[in-house]
Amino acid sequence: MNVLGIHHVTAVSAKIVENLEFYTGVLGMRLVKKSVNQDDVSAYHLFYADTVGSPGTDLTFFDWPSIQPNRPGVATVSLTTLRVAGSSLKAWEQRLKEHGVVPEWDLDRKGRDRLTFADPEGQQLALIDDSGLANQVVPWTKVVPNEMAIRGILGVDLDSARPDATRKVLTELLGFDDVDGTRFVIKGEHHSAEVLVNDPQERAFGQVGAGGVHHVAFGVQNDQELLAFQDKLASAGIRTSGYIDRFYFHSLYFREPGGVLFELATEGPGFASDEDPDHLGEKLALPPFLEPQRATIERDLKPLPEPKYL
Ligand code: ZN
Repeated sequence: MNVLGIHHVTAVSAKIVENLEFYTGVLGMRLVKKSVNQDDVSAYHLFYADTVGSPGTDLTFFDWPSIQPNRPGVATVSLTTLRVAGSSLKAWEQRLKEHGVVPEWDLDRKGRDRLTFADPEGQQLALIDDSGLANQVVPWTKVVPNEMAIRGILGVDLDSARPDATRKVLTELLGFDDVDGTRFVIKGEHHSAEVLVNDPQERAFGQVGAGGVHHVAFGVQNDQELLAFQDKLASAGIRTSGYIDRFYFHSLYFREPGGVLFELATEGPGFASDEDPDHLGEKLALPPFLEPQRATIERDLKPLPEPKYL
C-alpha cells in the first residue's frame, strides 16, 4: 500500500493579502477555495491550485497575522518544489524579476534545472523542470500562459531531526522508493512525488511560523485506505489524530519522527463538491458543520481583495 503522491502542502502566512496577490497574481495559480481554518475559524484558509483543484496541485495557507516569522532549522520543511515545463524556466526567471523576486538557478540532486526563490514572507520555493513525470492537471491560464503554468507540487525537502527514522516512515509505511538514501520517490499513475531528507547535523531546531510550511499531505485513494494506513501507523507505534472529515477530503495527521507534521488525505470529494467549478474560490466556503455560524464567522474575518483575474 503506497500513498499516491503529494496531496497538498499547507503553509503559514501573516500577510494574507500579499500572499493572495503573490500566488494568484505572480505565480498564476487559481484560488480554488476561500475558507477558514476548521480548527480556528478566525483565520482564513486559502487554497491555490490548478483550474479544478486536482490533488497534488494544491498549496494552501493559514492566515495567522500575529505569528512570528518562520525559523528555519531541524524538524521543518526547508523547500517546496513546484512543477513547470522546463522550456518555461527562462520566462519564469524574467517574470519573477519583473515582480521584484530574485530567483537563483541551480540543479537539484537529480541534475534538473530549477529556479529557487522566496515568496514575500520568505517561503522557500523552487520551480523545476518536470519533463517526463506523470502529470494530470488542468492548467490555470488566466494569468500565465499554458506553457508556463504551474503543474502542481513535485515535493518537499525535509530537515529531519532523525533522518533514519524519517526514511523508514517514507519507505516502510508510506511506500516511497529509496533512490539514494536522501531522495525518496513515488511514481504514481497521476502524479509523482519526491521527498528529500536532509541530515542537518549541527543545526538548531526550527519553528514553524510565517513563511514556513505547517504540514505536508500525501494522497490516499479512499476512506478504506486511509483507515488501513491508520492501522499501519498504529502498529508501528506512531500516534495519529485519527480520522477527520475535512469535508473536501478526509484526513489523518501524524508527526513523523523527524519532527515534520504529515497528513494523509483522500483524493475526494474535492473542491467542486460545494461550488460551481466555474466560480471556485469566489465566495467564502464553509463546510456544512460551520454553516450555522456563517454570520459570525464572516463578521470576524477581515475583507480580502478578489484575485485580479476575476
Ligand atoms: Zn492539510
